[in-house]
Amino acid sequence: MELFKEMEKHGHEQVMFLQDNKVGLKAVIAIHNTVLGPSLGGCRMWDYDTEEEVVIDALRLSKGMTYKSGISGVDFGGAKSVIWGDPEEDKSEGIFRALGKFINTLQGRYSTGTDVGTTYDDFVILRKETPYVGALPKEYGGSGDSSIATAYGVFHGIKASCKYKYGKKDCDGLTVAVQGLGKVGSKLTKHLIDAGCEVIATDINEEYIEKGKELGAEIVEPDEIYDVDCDIFSPNALGSVINEDTIDRLKCDIIAGAANNVLANHSFADKLRERDILYAPDYVINAGGLIQVADELGVGGYNEERTMKKCEGIYDKLLQIFKIADQKGITTVDAADHMVEERIAMMKAIHNIRG
Ligand code: NAD
Repeated sequence: MELFKEMEKHGHEQVMFLQDNKVGLKAVIAIHNTVLGPSLGGCRMWDYDTEEEVVIDALRLSKGMTYKSGISGVDFGGAKSVIWGDPEEDKSEGIFRALGKFINTLQGRYSTGTDVGTTYDDFVILRKETPYVGALPKEYGGSGDSSIATAYGVFHGIKASCKYKYGKKDCDGLTVAVQGLGKVGSKLTKHLIDAGCEVIATDINEEYIEKGKELGAEIVEPDEIYDVDCDIFSPNALGSVINEDTIDRLKCDIIAGAANNVLANHSFADKLRERDILYAPDYVINAGGLIQVADELGVGGYNEERTMKKCEGIYDKLLQIFKIADQKGITTVDAADHMVEERIAMMKAIHNIRG
């Protein structure tokens, strides 16, 4: 790939390649944009097939974080770190301490937290080398599990989507197909079942499947989830799940879930609009974790009540986006992007005021 061209195309500021042969660390940190503030974004660990896949994921995810911060109104820019390795096999103290050392050299230009493949235990290790980490366990002075806030925000986003699509205040009686029963997907499943939804779910991990069954979800095979006859398809696993192979299989009115980069590319936002499927843009609906970590790292320290209130705000934000999209005849993704780009332009203007 031509990295500088990719960075130019998507407006990235900086990409760093990190390596330590002794501990076996291979990682990338991509900083997309710091106009809104120092950058923030979780750390993913995944067993990618190629080096290019690692970089592409870091670039896409970091840009998503700029937009997620922008739409959430927090004073942070966007970045992401990606460790190339199998989260089940390749973790070690050395890998997370080495990553912590590298992050510390940035002196706050980048702060991190958990993402797919990384856990709070990993970040307790990383914290020994740098203070630039959020969502640490409460017993370590952090705000705790960020997937609680993310799932709560997604649940409110699903309610907003139901309100817009069906004019229905709540989502009781609706069927939701949940892809991924991990940290967010399992908590979201509990919210949905408690709210009176029928949940049909899948995962590739047996332990999480059992957890889903205990919560009351019906389980299907991973590939069958796209064919489920449902009102809402909720992606909570990996990205690019709405693609050429899956879009025509979907039998839903709404797509709303926590996964980042749900659409394989922007053309799928148009295709969903043509098919009259309401799409809740990923970085808007899944911003709960970011809202929590931004609160923890911000002035005055973490306040849970304030954080949960802000997560509930995802409901109104999405309704505003859906309305703008309809009024302007554009996709919900474009409506959300324009709102963020306006905020970044406003903050750039403010930076120009000199004291
Ligand atoms: P997780 O690793 O705990 O859960 C992901 C789950 O998806 C795992 O259980 C995994 O087995 C499953 N999975 C992977 N491939 C699958 C497939 N093909 N079919 C079905 N299941 C599959 O991660 P998480 O923290 O729950 O995050 C889920 C998604 O939400 C990710 O895309 C993440 O980037 C996004 N997200 C998470 C947070 C957060 O606070 N944790 C915040 C914002 C966005």
